[in-house]
Amino acid sequence: MKSPGKSETGTVYLIGSGPGDPGLLTLKGQALLKKADVVIYDNLVNSELLNWVPEHTERIYVGKKAGQHTLRQEKINQLLIEKAQTRAVVVRLKGGDPYIFGRGGEEALALWEAGIPFEVVPGITAGAAALNYAGIPATLRGMDASLTFVTGHEDPAKENSDINWKALAAEKSTLVFYMGVGQLPKITAQLITHGKSPQTPAAVIRNGTLPDQNVLVGTLETISDRAKAVRLAPPALIVVGEVVNLREKLSWFEKKPLFGKRILVTRAQGQAGSLADLLREQGAAAIVLPAIEIVDPESWKSADEVLAHPERIDWLVFTSANGVKRWMQRLFDSGVDVRALGKIQIASIGAATSEALKNYGLIPDLQPASFIAEGLIEAFQTVSLKNKTVVLARAEAARDVLPETLKQMGAIVTVAPVYRTILNSRSREMAAHLFEKPAAFPDWITFTSSSTVEKFVQLIGAEKIPQVASAVKTACIGPITQKTAERFGFHTTVMPKQFLIPDLVKALVSYEMGAKTRKFQKGKIT
Ligand code: SAH
Repeated sequence: MKSPGKSETGTVYLIGSGPGDPGLLTLKGQALLKKADVVIYDNLVNSELLNWVPEHTERIYVGKKAGQHTLRQEKINQLLIEKAQTRAVVVRLKGGDPYIFGRGGEEALALWEAGIPFEVVPGITAGAAALNYAGIPATLRGMDASLTFVTGHEDPAKENSDINWKALAAEKSTLVFYMGVGQLPKITAQLITHGKSPQTPAAVIRNGTLPDQNVLVGTLETISDRAKAVRLAPPALIVVGEVVNLREKLSWFEKKPLFGKRILVTRAQGQAGSLADLLREQGAAAIVLPAIEIVDPESWKSADEVLAHPERIDWLVFTSANGVKRWMQRLFDSGVDVRALGKIQIASIGAATSEALKNYGLIPDLQPASFIAEGLIEAFQTVSLKNKTVVLARAEAARDVLPETLKQMGAIVTVAPVYRTILNSRSREMAAHLFEKPAAFPDWITFTSSSTVEKFVQLIGAEKIPQVASAVKTACIGPITQKTAERFGFHTTVMPKQFLIPDLVKALVSYEMGAKTRKFQKGKIT
């Protein structure tokens, strides 16, 4: 990558991050984040987008948040210029679209004045996206003839207002006010004074496109009292116009089964993504708190010994996708390829492990119906193991039931640890923060293995568990995990029939859908 010396100047990319939902970043924005040398971002930017940024990238927060150090606009402009003098790719990440009430115009002008090359990547503005997620089409044929984005920042009562209230009130237009929460009573009063009907539908959308999106609906006359009653805080948009009424029919986002639920994912970082994505697809706020980390075993001795003579192995047994990946990597590192596994028979504990095998072109000869060690043992009943060499490629600390039973069945068993599960201490700070006050607790904790339970307990401290276990619902992937969770005092509310990640999500969905129905029925009775 280009690394400019003193004479060479980098480029500043003003990138719109979209309104909040990380999926609404543009492909161009994502590509630039992936090669950013420095990212300078605001508080409206979803911090998850920083996951696209390389490890070495400098991250500078310049947002305004109560009690936090903030940089004034001139200082931000200066920072952009300075960074461009030493870095090739300077990303300035801004909420929504950089040029819509985002002061992106000022930043671009400052760069132009300083002779710094810049590009601007548009983003989806809140005025489009948040309305959409709230079930309000910004325009609809017959209902309005235009769409107006208005700043709500300025005091509407001030003399010589930049806003032509008379024109705004007169036009058959959907009005969208940005930054208007503080001025809401004055905005509605101005519109009514200038002739807009007090009955005009109005809405306030807070945290649009995010799992905690909150929408209040009323009329020009009622909306500011409604917002006051719930002490609505920014960021929020005010929408005025007939289109607000369509929300009843078009609100799709808030109808998702897990909408509004905060669900903790405790899997290892590299694997958390798939569970978090599936939960988000269902509308949940997935909070990724990796409790575990997968690292090398204390010793490779045992694995290396069997790998030195793969021709001596009759059966190779995998009990996790991690086991497969780690074993195969070690095999490749020893300088051979899959052909070394030749005629070895392979057993897999379940579908996810078999899927991992498939990635290497391997199909297991044995896979039980129930995805636990006991199921595997049962499946082995159909095979003669007498004097067969069986290798278990698995985690360092795992249950003894499998090797012990296979031995009893006549096999010569070698346990070959290919990884170790340890506490992810980088999660400590976030864990402490999340579990500081019950009000901030998530709705659910998901456990996908016994080690996630054990390490989660270590993360938040055993003394906290009774309080957490009584306030937060627990979802476990299967009976072994459930048993471990129970040992620590968690009561499992949800466990899927098949011990797989997609099934865990399905079980959560059906529980929450049931909960909604139960609530509804209860409401009817009382
Ligand atoms: N450039 C941004 C707007 C920045 S001004 C854009 O194009 O969206 C900040 C204002 O944007 C907030 O006060 C609020 O009115 C609005 N806003 C930004 N994100 C929002 C969200 N997720 N939900 C509702 N309003 C939002």
